[in-house]
This record gives sequence, structure tokens and C-alpha cells, in this order.
Amino acid sequence: MSHEFSRYHRQMLLPGVGAEGQRRLAASHAVIVGVGALGCASADLLVRAGVGRVTLMDRDVVEMTNLQRQTLFDEGDVGVPKAEAAARRLARVNSQAEIVPMVADVSARSVARLLGLGEGGVGATRGDVIVDGCDNFETRYLLNDVSVKVDVPYVYGGVVGTRGMQATFLPRAGPCLRCVFPELPPVGSVATCDTAGVLGPAVAIVAAAQAADVLKILLGQSAMLSGELLEFDLWTSNRRSLDLRGMRADDCVCCGLWRFEFLDSSGDGDGVSLCGADSVQIVPRASGSGVIDLDALAARLGAIGRVTRSRFMVRAAVAEGIELSVFADGRAIVRGTSKADVARGMYAKFVGS
Ligand SMILES: [Zn+2]
Repeated sequence: MSHEFSRYHRQMLLPGVGAEGQRRLAASHAVIVGVGALGCASADLLVRAGVGRVTLMDRDVVEMTNLQRQTLFDEGDVGVPKAEAAARRLARVNSQAEIVPMVADVSARSVARLLGLGEGGVGATRGDVIVDGCDNFETRYLLNDVSVKVDVPYVYGGVVGTRGMQATFLPRAGPCLRCVFPELPPVGSVATCDTAGVLGPAVAIVAAAQAADVLKILLGQSAMLSGELLEFDLWTSNRRSLDLRGMRADDCVCCGLWRFEFLDSSGDGDGVSLCGADSVQIVPRASGSGVIDLDALAARLGAIGRVTRSRFMVRAAVAEGIELSVFADGRAIVRGTSKADVARGMYAKFVGS
């Protein structure tokens, strides 16, 4: 056993792993989109298992209400971007792994760039697998578009309340997410974690199922994937699995008709969106090019109120009950209001328009 892999001894004993399997894992790249409850748990499992490179993409900062289920964070991380806090923690777990934090909104542009589509060309930073840690279906459809277009497996997971779902989609070998769920659920029709709560143990099950599928894929053992959609409710003890094999649809908009509606449609204009119960996110048009000088901004805002600076972000109390978090790409989250115009005003006043 080479010294480098000795820490994985118990895992190397498993069928299909061994030293060759560890070498494969060490040469692999998992892209985790969303570092909430699912992203935390699956990232922890994958980094401990020896996946060589893990990219963590998330736009939000850690809040106290996250700690109930987001296992990479502690009280000292509150206010720090999730991708940054998770990367710091994971680097201590396994110094052999390359952890790449990306504090960024998951948009068509950012995901495409991350997966080597568009600027940089295919393969620039292409991941070997996309792990779903996001909290809404629009982003999932976007990930599914990318998965099919660049032929990278997509490991779906979702948890709301006490219920969990998990499935893994191998593009071109079987159905994609849209073969199974053709259309977005109507806005407001789906419970979210903000309204229905979320049970930590349900997260643990889904994330574990996702991580096991990721390991099978990266080990070259995709034939061992179940091909099923797992669904369970830990409160009612209902569980079922739906066989997805044979569900590939010739008329699927994405993998059948080869139309990537979510990847192609998101515009690059200013985006203002509600984000959580009492926050508004602002994504300026120029976002993504590293437009903000955070040091200068921190100095400016320091004259107004208490300022916290991290590597990727400046956070400041700018008015009574209003807190502004500005990221290096120009994006901001305004906490303490749910009004888009109030948030826009704060942004224009303190960051610039
Ligand atoms: Zn499809």
C-alpha cells in the first residue's frame, strides 16, 4: 500500500475499490452545486473518501438556522460564505484533496463556465460528476441541461420536511431528469425548506445515497447504480422506489429534442430575487468578472457601521435592521427587507449602481 493511500485502508478493502480505485478517486473531480444540508453532507463523505478535487459552488452565507442540518459549519462560521467555510473545514479533513470554493450564484453562465462550456472551451474545468445540493427545480433543470449537453452524470437529491428523494441520471445511457419530470412545478406549488422545515436525518440519507452513487461512477462501476428513484418519508415510514430504466422519452425536450431551455434562456441582465424569508439578492449585469474592490468597499462601509470582511465578501450593517453582504463578483444580498426596490436602493447607495 502506498503511503499516500494508507488512510483509506478500510475503504480499499471494499469490492471494486483497492489501490486502483483510490487512484481513480484521487484523479477525479466532483462538482457540488449548493452547499446547504445536502452539499455539506455529500462533500464531507467524498472528501473523506479521497476524491481528489471537489468544487463547491454556493451563493449564500452561513446563518444560525443552518446549523441544525448543515454539518460542515459551526457557530463561528455564521456570516461567512458557505463555500468558503466548507472549504476551510474540508481542507482540515483531508489535506490531499483540492477543494475549490466558488462563491457565486448558480446561473446558466456560471455553471456553464464551471463545466467548461462556453468561455474557456469544453474541458477547461470540467467535472466528472455533478452533485445536486440545490434547493429549487429551476436550478435542477439547469444542471440537467448541462449534464446532457456535456455528457456528465447528474446525481439528483432533494429533501423537504421529512421526505427525501434521490436518483442518478447518466446522460445518453438512460432517462434524464426531464424524462421523469417533464415540466417545472408551478411557482408556489412546491413546499420549500423555508416553509415546510427540513429534518436532518432525511438529509443524511439522501446525501449518503448521492455520495455512494458518486463513488460508483468515479470508480467506473456505473453498472452498479440502481437505476431507481428512491423516495421516503422518515416520519410516516413510507418508502418506495420507482424503476427509471425504460423511462427515457424520445420527445424529452432536453435529451430527446436536444433543446437546452434552462442553459440557453437565462439572460445576463440585472437580477433581483427574493432569497429566504427576509432577504433580496441582487445580481448586477457585470457580475462574474471580479468587479468589486472589496478592500476599498470595506473601508468605505466601515465609516457607516460595523464591517466584517472575509476572503470573498464584505458584510456591513448599513441601516437600522438592514445588513448588506457584497461579494467579489458584485453580487449582493440585502438582509432585513423583502422589497426589491428597497434592496436596489441600498445597493445603489452603498455599492454603486
Ligand atoms: Zn430526457
